[in-house]
Amino acid sequence: MIDKKFELGQTVEMPCSVCDAEQNHTAQSVTKLGKMTKAVCDACGTVSAFRRGKKVSVDTGKTKAGTPYSQSQKYKKGQAMMHSTFGQGEVTAVVDAQKIDVLFGDQMRRLVHARQ
Ligand SMILES: [Zn+2]
Repeated sequence: MIDKKFELGQTVEMPCSVCDAEQNHTAQSVTKLGKMTKAVCDACGTVSAFRRGKKVSVDTGKTKAGTPYSQSQKYKKGQAMMHSTFGQGEVTAVVDAQKIDVLFGDQMRRLVHARQ
């Protein structure tokens, strides 16, 4: 996917964190070099932004909010959550057994999870 060139309005299948499944996304923003920087999930309207091929922000659609964040819950990559302070977020990486990186809008936060 790295060398692939995209066009505006092109349909791209990729995982959607809100739908929790592979979904068709429409390329909403593409650079001159053909790199996709923004894509919208056709199913739920979630907008994902990318920089150098990495997802840097997620703007979830209205349909489905993540479950409320809890330190004791174990999270996996791509899972959506609702944080009482930061709002709607998406787990972008599981750092280790008790740490996760979560993207809230365009802000990355490190949170604990799976705390006994
Ligand atoms: Zn979706």
